[in-house]
Amino acid sequence: MSSLALKTFAGLSHRTTAETHRTVSHPKPISTHKRFIVRAGKFSPKVTGRNLRVAVVGGGPAGGAAAETLAKGGIETVLIERKMDNCKPCGGAIPLCMVGEFDLPLDIIDRRVTKMKMISPSNVAVDIGQTLKPHEYIGMVRREVLDAYLRDRAAAAGANVINGLFLKMDVPKSAGPGSDAPYVLHYTGQVSKYTGGAGERRTLEVDAVIGADGANSRVAKSIGAGDYEYAIAFQERIKIPSEKMEYYENLAEMYVGDDVSPDFYGWVFPKSDHVAVGTGTVTHKGDIKKLQFATRHRARDKILGGKIIRVEAHPIPEHPRPRRLSGRVALVGDAAGYVTKCSGEGIYFAAKSGRMCAEAIVEGSENGKRMVEEGDLRKYLEKWDKTYWPTYKVLDVLQKVFYRSNPAREAFVEMCADEYVQKMTFDSYLYKKVVPGNPLDDLKLAVNTIGSLVRANALRREMEKISV
Ligand SMILES: Cc1cc2nc3c(=O)[nH]c(=O)nc-3n(C[C@H](O)[C@H](O)[C@H](O)COP(=O)(O)OP(=O)(O)OC[C@H]3O[C@@H](n4cnc5c(N)ncnc54)[C@H](O)[C@@H]3O)c2cc1C
Repeated sequence: MSSLALKTFAGLSHRTTAETHRTVSHPKPISTHKRFIVRAGKFSPKVTGRNLRVAVVGGGPAGGAAAETLAKGGIETVLIERKMDNCKPCGGAIPLCMVGEFDLPLDIIDRRVTKMKMISPSNVAVDIGQTLKPHEYIGMVRREVLDAYLRDRAAAAGANVINGLFLKMDVPKSAGPGSDAPYVLHYTGQVSKYTGGAGERRTLEVDAVIGADGANSRVAKSIGAGDYEYAIAFQERIKIPSEKMEYYENLAEMYVGDDVSPDFYGWVFPKSDHVAVGTGTVTHKGDIKKLQFATRHRARDKILGGKIIRVEAHPIPEHPRPRRLSGRVALVGDAAGYVTKCSGEGIYFAAKSGRMCAEAIVEGSENGKRMVEEGDLRKYLEKWDKTYWPTYKVLDVLQKVFYRSNPAREAFVEMCADEYVQKMTFDSYLYKKVVPGNPLDDLKLAVNTIGSLVRANALRREMEKISV
């Protein structure tokens, strides 16, 4: 499916934000040491008496991964997180490649999902997951567990993890090449757990900042990064009787239909001792509770007797912010706007962007020995856009084609029964690559897709006649 959609895009040219900016050049052409020609950091001033100081604001997956990489790379790293036991509203589904790439221990993964039920508006259920190899699965985590683990690992690598609320940042008048003027961060220390009141006001001087403070990012505001369209996602954690929980042992459900969401999907994801039931929408935010009710209603037989133990909601960015970088400040994860359409996935992309941004700083500063400049941080954006642009585009197209009406969703679920579609979808999800397809199977899939969509349109016309 992904490769088919990708081909639809083959004619488009990819111009990244980064390409619209200047490239770093060297005063003298050197042909033998190419590695250094593009390294602006080499010509930036040396940092003396200390190493480069970087603040990471926000300790979710983006911030935890960034801080660990910075600390391991010789950077004096401070991570500011407002709530150490933060329980980020999230389905908690992570791809298999994240477990390997981030070396996650298996005991922080609540469930290994090997079966996904895709359920159409008319409640036709298609089981996907038949093509998975024995070692393959979708991980289900609780965010309070995953985030704390990544933050602890950053601390173990040498990051100074502060429990505080970031308030604002003073940006130096000139943060351009050659400048080593510091950014001054204002934050309140230890947030009182009992009174909810803020602690003492403090300031912190650093050379560079990574904004990993999520969808409502204050770092983004401080650099005038601009806004993005967002979805609102709602989720209830429901503790269901243990015999009902057996059904969700290694199974997750996705519900599609106008009732559960006009532009997204509803889900039931299994956790250690409960299920997370939720939905999201961009276009009908005011109806979110009604949509959530419908999602719960659709799953009613399977969650009967359940007790709601937590209700949560949060924005999900729909696309990157107009600006993700300014001087020595870069945004990562939800702060930058890296959630995919269609699947609403952002945990892996948050951790990955945090790590990629930190790597660019470590490399540009030669392990903390030199000042960095915007050109160093821009390398992260260039690499990011080059690596993930196709994935975002494919999922954008899929959402536009298949989530637009109930007949189109019926067609989508029908297509999901195809083994080839399942393989392509799972491979793309689990390994975060737009998988190149087999030409013959792609052709078969194209014919089937057109068949499904034609049937869907015919069905819609018939339904319109009925409703006239
Ligand atoms: C209901 C719902 C379900 C979802 N389901 C999934 C899913 O199943 N799979 C998936 O991959 N993605 C899912 N997502 C998306 C995913 O949750 C996000 O993409 C991901 O959390 C982004 O990580 P992050 O580190 O960028 O930001 P966040 O996880 O939002 O972390 C930001 C951190 O910064 C801290 N912070 C914020 N402001 C400040 C401040 N001023 N000072 C100090 N600290 C601050 C916060 O406390 C938080 O810990 C879901 C989202 C929602 C809302």
